[in-house]
Amino acid sequence: MDKTKYIFVTGGVVSSLGKGIISASIGKLLQARGYKITIQKFDPYINIDPGTLNPYEHGECYVTADGMETDLDLGHYERFTDIQTTRHNSVTTGRIYQAVIDKERRGDYLGKTIQVVPHITDEIKRRIKENAAHEHFDFVISEIGGTIGDIESAPFMEAIRQLRWEMGGDAVNIHLTYVPYLHAAGEFKTKPTQHSVKELQSMGIQPDILILRTEHHLEDSILRKVASFCNVEPECVVQSEDLPSIYEVPVNMQHQGLDIAILRKLGAPLQFASRDGDMSVPGLVSWYHFLHLQQEAKDEVAIGLVGKYDLQDAYKSIRESLCLAAIYDGRKARLHFINSEDITPGNVAEKLDGMAGIVICPGFGQRGIEGKIAAAHYTRLHDIPTFGICLGMQMMVIEFARNVLGYTDANSAEMDDRTPHNVIDLMEEQKSITQMVGTMRLGAYDCELKVGSRVWKAYGEKSLISERHRHRYEFNNGFQAEFEQGGMQCVGIHPGANLVEIVEVPDKRWYIGTQFHPEYSSTVLNPHPLFMSFVKACLEGVKN
Ligand code: GLN
Repeated sequence: MDKTKYIFVTGGVVSSLGKGIISASIGKLLQARGYKITIQKFDPYINIDPGTLNPYEHGECYVTADGMETDLDLGHYERFTDIQTTRHNSVTTGRIYQAVIDKERRGDYLGKTIQVVPHITDEIKRRIKENAAHEHFDFVISEIGGTIGDIESAPFMEAIRQLRWEMGGDAVNIHLTYVPYLHAAGEFKTKPTQHSVKELQSMGIQPDILILRTEHHLEDSILRKVASFCNVEPECVVQSEDLPSIYEVPVNMQHQGLDIAILRKLGAPLQFASRDGDMSVPGLVSWYHFLHLQQEAKDEVAIGLVGKYDLQDAYKSIRESLCLAAIYDGRKARLHFINSEDITPGNVAEKLDGMAGIVICPGFGQRGIEGKIAAAHYTRLHDIPTFGICLGMQMMVIEFARNVLGYTDANSAEMDDRTPHNVIDLMEEQKSITQMVGTMRLGAYDCELKVGSRVWKAYGEKSLISERHRHRYEFNNGFQAEFEQGGMQCVGIHPGANLVEIVEVPDKRWYIGTQFHPEYSSTVLNPHPLFMSFVKACLEGVKN
């Protein structure tokens, strides 16, 4: 299509309905019909980006290839659709205000009074259209965070209202609401949905499509009732029931004709149109194959996540990457969170008992790091497959320095900046390549793999790869020769600045640490090779 069409996804009644999954599913279905899409997230909070948000409040911070710290929903977008998001795909109220205030300071507004309408709303509109200004997309899907009625989201609603008015038939609003089931009354209740739609209408936005989240199946009569009370066509009301896996959502939406409704509303050709009940939309063949493998995977593989945030979402991408890799191996990953603050050399055997493999998770700050070191020590001695990611890799390196190289005071400068044996340190070399303001290495960097190493084999014998980073400290090159003599090899190097990106102990079954975060680039249809290789090693242990 020549013209870009815009889809706005809003949410009502309560938060946590899964707007991110719905947005990602819509993207997937439109791709399956041969369209080029992108998905972006607008977060109404004042933080400039989610980078500084506590994972307890907002879950994982996801990093784009171009180095933006974003909301974890971008992880869903990438995992579902295989698109690569950029800094333009994540916008917060804080960033909008910052841009407007910067313009005001520069004098761009020529002395005008700066107001929410039109200045903030104009900046939101510019951001909504920004992706399509850089690259052609058939559809731009914009997910608006928060719930209708929040004070914070009002400027976003006004921006959407204006855009819909300006764009006419080229924009639709999809509103996700909740239909609760009251056990005492034995009834589903549609009133909250009606109120939510009324609220949206009071802001000048008539929803085109309603998606009703529900824990149990809704009868057609309920969908028809909602359609008539909310002024929406009956074919444009669909339900999103709880499903065993989030990856079933796209096909569940497709069976109800959501993609057809969107295309019809936007006047876009029904490419690859499927007949009623026909599931053979060409673009979904691999997706169905994956769902089949997922349903067939019954036997479990137990993997321990050693980290400090006892919250599912804090290690979202790692969890998904492990589950996806296991499915392709015919297994169900049973993930056990093991709090590193509770691990001591005395109880580590008991804490890690029964795990076929261990992931030592990323993180910041001192809390729980000695537990991670104790875990790395135990798994190295007992040859349990171990995957250290970012801080996890750093702890594997410290453990090795303390217990193999004999530097009992070895540490990271993040924890102790006085010891002469900071095997993890701030490196001058990093400064030469850090493109961003600030001191973190963020986003994708090249990495050369050592030919013959286990990682080189895992990556399909590729010699150059690119992976995403988010850290301040680095392997201290001054110790590289000693580590290699001691048996820990540096098998991935950033060629520009000679920074160590991957360490491996080849004597062990699978003992690998990466300074980068492979979990950010593992997708449903392209699970990451290192997670695949790690899970395979875990399974070999189970079979023995
Ligand atoms: N805190 C460590 C650093 O800044 C590791 C960061 C991480 O695990 N993402 O280098």
